[in-house]
Formats: sequence, structure tokens, C-alpha cells
Amino acid sequence: MDNILEVKNLKKYFKTPQGDLHAVDDVSFSIKRGQTLGVVGESGCGKSTLGNLIIGLQPPTSGEVYFEGREISRLEGKNRYNLLKEMQLVFQDPFSSLNPRMCVEQLIAEPLKNFRACKNKKELEQRITELMDFAGIAQRLRYSYPHELDGGRRQRIGIARALALDPTFVICDEPVSALDVSIQAQIINLMMDIQKEKGLTFMFISHDLSVVKHISSDIVVMYLGRIAEKASPKSLFKNPLHPYTKGLLSAIPIPSAERQKRTILRGELTSPINPGKSCRFANRCVYAEERCKCEEPALREIMPEHFVSCHRAEEISAIASQVESNRV
Ligand code: SF4
Repeated sequence: MDNILEVKNLKKYFKTPQGDLHAVDDVSFSIKRGQTLGVVGESGCGKSTLGNLIIGLQPPTSGEVYFEGREISRLEGKNRYNLLKEMQLVFQDPFSSLNPRMCVEQLIAEPLKNFRACKNKKELEQRITELMDFAGIAQRLRYSYPHELDGGRRQRIGIARALALDPTFVICDEPVSALDVSIQAQIINLMMDIQKEKGLTFMFISHDLSVVKHISSDIVVMYLGRIAEKASPKSLFKNPLHPYTKGLLSAIPIPSAERQKRTILRGELTSPINPGKSCRFANRCVYAEERCKCEEPALREIMPEHFVSCHRAEEISAIASQVESNRV
């Protein structure tokens, strides 16, 4: 399977009076066509900035983004605009991303009109009907306004708009975090059905590992602008290697009968402004040693297709296996 997207050494630094804020720092990965890459991490880890750099909402400080083999990170004007036909974004908050003065029909028609995607009014109306059906929006809501709809329906409009131009790649930036849990499941199932039917490729950004687990082919865990760990959901959940990933997994609510010992993350966050050459997780890591405070760990493949940025990943994995075997 070929890569639809490749990101190479991507960096985004923001100037502040105190120095450069490293929002995204030397991030590299690829996404295979028709698959979903989940990107997780807490607020401020750079996951949304990463999405913005890929889709071109912000220019990178350095690094490259290849889409279908073409370098796109510095496209401007018409070339950038045309790329939006192939690459779309679903936003976190469907209420603030939709124009409150437009009804459902007008909202879905907007991208179709902007790109002159339909030859005449009849074709436009047909396409809106199709997209509403596809996104699971009842036709009776065609003339409803965003404030008359619940969060799930509003997000379905966001999805219909993103799919209007038949893109091949969609970045979903926290698309379900503003929704109730039951609605979250509906939207994720809808996205998985759409992917199966249209062969779309997704980059799915979330702060919640349990959300990306079900939809992702691969998961990237980000911490303060860098990749802490990258693996398949199966490998990541079975054998988390980075102490930060262990903390994230431990924060997922599970029934008390199944509750294992929790890993609670404590300590001060390293400042993202000129963070220096230490491991960025060192202030919160119970395994930190002298080396971690003066040498930044590189992303290494520790197990097949399982990458981690930690000097002590092998030892931590061995300790975890030992604890597990003692428990049995
Ligand atoms: Fe912890 Fe050191 Fe690994 Fe960083 S490199 S996660 S501080 S053990």
C-alpha cells in the first residue's frame, strides 16, 4: 500500500518575548492510502498545529509535507486553494465552525458553489440530497439552522461539507470531543463507514486514546511537540513503551474490577519555550536518570513497527514484563 502523505522533519516555532515556542519539533511520519492515523496527546502537545501545517493553515518553520508525492508545505494562492479539493478538515466545535445564518442546505452548498462543483441548480440540489443521506442527516432538516440541531447533527453537517468535493484525505481535529459519549460512537461509526465506502484516508486528532483506538490503523502519541511513541493500536495498548503513553492509558476509565495499578503523571511540564536538549518528559518521568536531563532521545524502532523516544524503553519494557509475570 502506498503512502498518501509523508511528513519529514516538520517544525513550527512561534516567536514569543521569552524565546521560540517549539509547537511542533522535528516530526516525521507517513500515512498509507485508505488508512487512519490517530494523533493523541494532551492540550498544547502540538497535535492541532501539526494538522494546520499539513493542510496549509500555517506555514512550517522548516521541514516538508508530501501529498501524493508532491511537496505542498509552501504552496500558495491558486495551488493551495486547489489542494483543498483533495484535502479537507473537520473541526472540533461544529457550532462555532458553521455560519449560524445559513440553513443545512446552504451550509452544504457553500463548498460546492465555491469550487463550482455542480453544473446547474438541479445538480447542486441532487448533490446536497446525496451528501445529507450519506452523512445521516434527515431530509426534513434541510432548512433547519445550526442552533436548532443537536451537537451530533451539527457535526454530521461538518462531515458532509468536508466530503462535498470528494477529497481523498481528511484531517479530523477532535471531531467528537465536544459531543456526548453516545453521539461520539455514532460519529466514529459514521466515519468508519465513510472510509470503507469511499476509501478515504484520515488523520484523526484527539486527546483521548480510547477514541482513536477504534478508528486508527496506527497511533502517534505526541508530547510537547515531539513524537513520544508510534505503533499500531494493538501493539500500543498491549505493550506501551513510553512512560507518557502508560500514563495516558492509565487515565482511561475502566470498570474497577479490571483496574490495574494506575500510572499517575506528576511533576511540572517542561516549558515548550527553548526546551533544550533534555528529554521533554524528564520532569514527570519516574524512570528519569542523568542522561535524560542532557540528551534528547531519538525515535527508535524497539519492536517491529513500534517506535519510541526513550533512552530506557527496553529496561522499562522488561520491568513491565517482570511486574506482569509476578502478578500472574
Ligand atoms: Fe523517562 Fe528518560 Fe525515557 Fe525520557 S528518556 S521518558 S525521562 S526514561
